[in-house]
Amino acid sequence: MSLKISGMIAVLACGLVACSEEAPHTNLTLATVNSEHIANAAATPEAWLSYGGGYEEQRFSRLEQINQQNVHELGVAWTYDLQTSRGVEATPIVVDGKMFVTGAWSIVYALDAKSGEEMWVHNPQVSGEDAAIGCCDVVNRGVAVHEGKVIASIFDGRLQALDAQTGEVLWSVLTVDKSKPYTITGAPRVVKDKVLIGNGGAEFGVRGYVSAYDVHTGELAWRFYTTSNPNKQPDGAASDGIFAAKANDTWGDTGKWTSDGGGGTVWDSIIYDTSNDNVIFGVGNGSPWNATLRDPEGVGDNFFLSSIVAVDADTGAYKWHFQTTPRDQWDYTATQTLILADLPLGEAGQARRVVMQAPKNGFYYVLDAKTGEFISGKNFVPITWASGLDPQGRPIEHPDARYTEKEFLGVPGPMGAHNWHPMAFSPQTGLAYIPAQQVPQLYQSLPEGQSAKSKWNLGADYAAGIPPTYPAGTLDVIRASYTGTLLAWDPVKQQERWRVEHKGPGNGGILATASGLVIQGTLRGNFTAYNAETGDKLWAQSVNSGIAAAPSTYAIDGEQYVAVATGWGGGWALNNGQGWDEAVAPDIGRVVVFKLGGTGAIPDPMENFVVKQPKGETFGTADQISVGFQLYAESCMVCHGPLVISSGVLPDLRWSYQTADAETWHEIVMEGLLSDSGMTPFDKVLTNEDAQNIRAYVMDQAWLAVANGDAQAPTK
Ligand code: CA
Repeated sequence: MSLKISGMIAVLACGLVACSEEAPHTNLTLATVNSEHIANAAATPEAWLSYGGGYEEQRFSRLEQINQQNVHELGVAWTYDLQTSRGVEATPIVVDGKMFVTGAWSIVYALDAKSGEEMWVHNPQVSGEDAAIGCCDVVNRGVAVHEGKVIASIFDGRLQALDAQTGEVLWSVLTVDKSKPYTITGAPRVVKDKVLIGNGGAEFGVRGYVSAYDVHTGELAWRFYTTSNPNKQPDGAASDGIFAAKANDTWGDTGKWTSDGGGGTVWDSIIYDTSNDNVIFGVGNGSPWNATLRDPEGVGDNFFLSSIVAVDADTGAYKWHFQTTPRDQWDYTATQTLILADLPLGEAGQARRVVMQAPKNGFYYVLDAKTGEFISGKNFVPITWASGLDPQGRPIEHPDARYTEKEFLGVPGPMGAHNWHPMAFSPQTGLAYIPAQQVPQLYQSLPEGQSAKSKWNLGADYAAGIPPTYPAGTLDVIRASYTGTLLAWDPVKQQERWRVEHKGPGNGGILATASGLVIQGTLRGNFTAYNAETGDKLWAQSVNSGIAAAPSTYAIDGEQYVAVATGWGGGWALNNGQGWDEAVAPDIGRVVVFKLGGTGAIPDPMENFVVKQPKGETFGTADQISVGFQLYAESCMVCHGPLVISSGVLPDLRWSYQTADAETWHEIVMEGLLSDSGMTPFDKVLTNEDAQNIRAYVMDQAWLAVANGDAQAPTK
């Protein structure tokens, strides 16, 4: 679709957005799309130009063709199957009738946005070895577009510019030190002529930063580190000034941070405040989590862990920061959705430019966008770790919350009260829509003298609170403690307006529209439209696969479309199998697109042939099983699930023939038989005996499930 013909725009716009508004001349094409279009994204609602739908990342569309009265007429316009299963987290980008979306393994797909016809596919060939150093599945949250280029972030740390017409690689740069366990899952953002990208890896031990690259050449323009250089000397980076002036003093001189980087990865949210020319980004948790190991002699706040940081867009120079969780101890990242908005906060109700976030720690924050000043904050879910915020916005911690003397039941746990799943804000209703959740976690320091063999680097005992054995009915109790909620939140009054309870956490990101709709999918595969004012359900359809990503919306030839990328996986699905009682079977990733009167169909779900049945006998002494339990928690659990219950994204080890066979198990765990799929060998961290002890624990759990009536006894 070309929007060069202004008469056509007027016709299109009149049916799609409020007719009283003059449609501007935009000249928006794949070749011309640039930062100015993104800055004025509201003027081109027929496109979805960046991850959050514009620099403010409100995920609010002015398209109104699909509204509260006709939303029940939505039907499938087309579907497109991605090449992989596993987690899908991307928001489809649409410009000039073309859609760009990513799936697992950082594969980029270019599609005709009207028909779903494939234009090209770019597979950057991420290795299984690189996949093994990610915390939360081989996911990717999408691309950026700029003047004929598609900018793609790759799981292994590369950043690439692709020709938007052909998928050809125009430039490719490595943004990380490959000797360290860095990964990238976040979507790049283009601001003016620079590409902004961060990375992840704080659970394994890295030093976080955000970088800006020249969009034309891939040359590094500036970099801002989020933790101190271990020797507290300058990096020759944009962050040097503020570290010398202020931030270095918030770190001691010894501890794990000096060898492992301290964490603070910028793995998701990056926005651009055009009115102050600031790039604002969210910073992740400390590494290791446990601050007494990370920074034992220090008492400082460890800048800029768990902070929202604003820097100059051109130079990366520090402007302001607000730390949500000083001296983080709980994996309370502040990487979650950042949204810019004008809220009626002045004395006479005048608008004030604010930045808002609902980070993992459970508080909803409203800050002044120009200065970072704390305006207000309130917990949006029940929490145990803090009783509230002081007048400066600093949390008032529960005296036991740091789990130094004894264990502490944290709500939220490390999955967060809100994770990466994008929230939305409607300037029309004045409400934020948060994919909130409750996933408690028992935090416990790693006991003195116990060596963690894990590749993970937490300083906390990952086996805490997990029973080695348990009676029938335990799983129901665990599941009941996990909730997922679509929360409509008034950021001015700092109070809840309405809520919809889902069955379990990990649900999809949100889209809000000017026609009063809020649209969200769930990990159980329901795609639902709600009344934005009341939360009343207006329409729902099963997509036969889990949804974690956020939808986007666009228009072509006078028709509005709603697109969502489906596919089950990601951090929640991988490492919380016990939270599922009727898990959606894993399926191929897919783009599903709806329009009014659509008559297409979504392919039937793949059949799940797994029979819950041990394939061998129990073996090993109680001691061996106990050792295997601890080792499993440290090295296996985050992918294969607590209690060895898989949610189905990866094989359930309890029902695997490989578990029953000592030699095959050895070949997989110690020799890397399945390296290509990300199951790299553990021979550097485990002994052969360790590996068999883990197998003994897994087999013990298989038979425990039989004893508890959760699985069938093998048939002879
Ligand atoms: Ca983390």
